[in-house]
Amino acid sequence: MRINILPKDVADKIAAGEVIERPVSVVKELVENAIDAGSTDITVEITGGGKESIRVSDNGEGIDKEDVEKAFLRHATSKIKKTEDLRKLSTLGFRGEALASIAAVSRVELITKTEDEKTGIKLVLHGGEKIISESVGCPRGTTIIVRDLFYNLPARLKFMKSEAAESGQIIDMVSRLAITRTDIKFKLISNGKNVFSTLGNKDLKSAIISVYKDREYKDLVLCEKQEKNMGIHGYISRPSFSRANRRSQYFFVNGRTVKSSVIEKGLNLGYKERLFDGRYPIAFLFIDVDPAAVDVNIHPNKKEVKFDDDVAITSLVRDAVIDALTKKDAVVTSADALKSEEDTSGYTAKKSDFNAKAKKADVSSGEQIGIRDFLKRETREEDTTSGKNNAGEKNSVASGRKETSSSKQADKRDELGTPDIEVNGIAPFDFDELTFGETIFNTYITATDETNFYLIDQHAAHERINYEKFVSAYMNNEKNSQVLLLPITVDVPSEIVDDENWQEILSRMGFALELFGENSFVFREIPEFMEISEAEDFIKTFVDEYIEGNTLGNRVVIDKLITKACKSSIKAHDAISREEVDALISELKSCGNPFSCPHGRPTFVKFRLYDIERMFKRIQG
Ligand code: ADP
Ligand code: MG
Repeated sequence: MRINILPKDVADKIAAGEVIERPVSVVKELVENAIDAGSTDITVEITGGGKESIRVSDNGEGIDKEDVEKAFLRHATSKIKKTEDLRKLSTLGFRGEALASIAAVSRVELITKTEDEKTGIKLVLHGGEKIISESVGCPRGTTIIVRDLFYNLPARLKFMKSEAAESGQIIDMVSRLAITRTDIKFKLISNGKNVFSTLGNKDLKSAIISVYKDREYKDLVLCEKQEKNMGIHGYISRPSFSRANRRSQYFFVNGRTVKSSVIEKGLNLGYKERLFDGRYPIAFLFIDVDPAAVDVNIHPNKKEVKFDDDVAITSLVRDAVIDALTKKDAVVTSADALKSEEDTSGYTAKKSDFNAKAKKADVSSGEQIGIRDFLKRETREEDTTSGKNNAGEKNSVASGRKETSSSKQADKRDELGTPDIEVNGIAPFDFDELTFGETIFNTYITATDETNFYLIDQHAAHERINYEKFVSAYMNNEKNSQVLLLPITVDVPSEIVDDENWQEILSRMGFALELFGENSFVFREIPEFMEISEAEDFIKTFVDEYIEGNTLGNRVVIDKLITKACKSSIKAHDAISREEVDALISELKSCGNPFSCPHGRPTFVKFRLYDIERMFKRIQG
C-alpha cells in the first residue's frame, strides 16, 4: 500500500467537516462572532433548514478591509494573541477556525464595514476560493451568507436530517441565545417567516414570552436567590401549570446552555408535593457560579455540566424555588389581575366571554373545554417542543404505542398527569387571620387582613372546592360508574383489538367494556362523571386519538372533572347566606390550591393597603 499526502484543500475540507457538523453549527459560530463583535441587533435568516442558506447580519464593529481575507484563514482570530490570553478569554469563539471551516465547505458571501471606513467590502468565496472582492456601500456591521452547505462534501451532505429537524435545532439554539442575551435584539426568520424577535430591553420575562410564545408564560413567577459564591435567577411556573415532560426546562450556567441532573434535582425538591409524579414545571433558570467551580465544557456535545459542589447547587435551586412559590404571587394582586386583562391574548376574550355568560347564569357551558380543544393543545405542545429538539423524540411521540416497554412506561406516567393540587401547599397567608365582611354584588366575598383587602369570587371558590373533591375521589379509586340500560357498541380498528393498553385506560376511568364479535366492543358501564349522551362520542374520539398515538387518559378525565365541578357549583350571582359563606371559606381553606379555580382564574384578588394608600395619595410611589 502506498501512503499519499492529501492535497491541502482536501485536508482542509475534511478538517472543516469535523468543526462544522450541520447547519446549526454554522449558525452558532456566526451568531457568536456577531456577539463577540459587540452587536446589539442580530438577524438570523435561514431557508431549507439552513441547508439552502443561512444569513446572519449584525450591527457590530465590522472587519477592517485589510483583515477581511485574513479572517477566513485557519487560526486567524482577532481575539487572542498570546497563550496567556487563553486564560482570561471572555469571548465565545477563539480558535479562529470557524470562518475558515465554513468557507471550505460552502459558498460564502461576506459584507462588512467598520465605523471608520467610508465604504464596505464584499467578499465571495466558493469552497474557500476567492471569487469576488469588491467595494460596496453598506451600514456598519457584518452580514454573512452561507449557501449550499457541504455542496462539495457529499458524504456530509448525506448526514443532513430533514429540513424540519435541522431548522428545529437552529430555532432551539437561537432561542436559548436570545433569552441568555436579553440585551441584544434577536430576530429569527425561517423560509421568510418570522419565528420570533426580541426587544433587547434586558427584560428576561419579555424575552421568554417573545421567544417561546406560550401565552401562559406571562404567569411565570420570578425565582431568584443570591448566595456568597453563587446566584440564581429566572422564571418558573406556578404548580397550577405544568407539563408531562421536561422539555420546557432550560438551564444555563454562566450564560451557557447546559444539561444538569443536579439542577433538575433541586427543581424537583422545590416543587416536592406540589406536583404529582410525572408532571414537570416550566423553568428558565440561570445560575452564576465562580468559573473555577464549574466545568461547562467537559464535552462540548454532551453539555452535562460538572459542578465542584453538587449539593450547594441543588440546595440553591431548591431554596430559590420554594421561596418563589411560597412568598410571591400565589395570590393574584389587583394589578396582576388587570395586567392580564390588558393582555391582547385570547385569554382576555375568554374572560369577558365568561363574564357575559356569568350574567346569564350559564357559566358551565361556556367554560367547558372540549376534548378536541384539549387534545389540540396537547398536540401543539408536543409538536413545538419536539420540533425544537430532535426528530427521534418526535417519532417516539407519534408511534409511542408500538415501542419499547420503557416508552410505554412513559406513556403511563403521562396518563397519570394530574391536576394542579398542591398537597401541603404552603399558603401565602393564614386563613385564620382573615376577617370576612359582606358579600358584594352577590358574587364577591370581601375579606381583610392587616395589610390587604381581598375579594373572593364565590363561584370560582366553589369550583375549586368541588374540583378537588372530585379529583381526590377519582384518585382514590372511588370510581363510580353508571350502568347503561342500553349498552353502547363501538367498532374499533382490528389493529387494536388485542391491545389491552387502551382498554385498561378506559376501565381505569370507570368504563366497563368487553369484546363483542370480531372487532366491536360493548360498553355496559360508563364513568359517573360523564353524560350518557356524550359517552359514545367520547369513546370514538378516544380510540381515534389512541391510534394516532396521542396520550390521553387522566388529562381528559380531569377535563371532565373540571366541567362537572363547574356545573355543580353555585353560580356567580346566587345570593348565599352568611352560614354558606362560612362553610365555603372553611372548605376553601382546606383545599390544596385555594388560589385559583380549576380553569386557572383567580379565586382571590388582593388589594394591597399600600396600593390603596397610593390611590388616595396618602403616600407617594
Ligand atoms: P474566532 O471567532 O475564533 O476568532 P472565526 O473564524 O469565527 O474565529 O472568526 C475570525 C475573525 O473574523 C474573528 O476573530 C473576528 O476578528 C472576525 N469576525 C468574524 N465574524 C465577525 C463579525 N460578525 N463581526 C466582526 N468581526 C468578525
Ligand atoms: Mg468565531
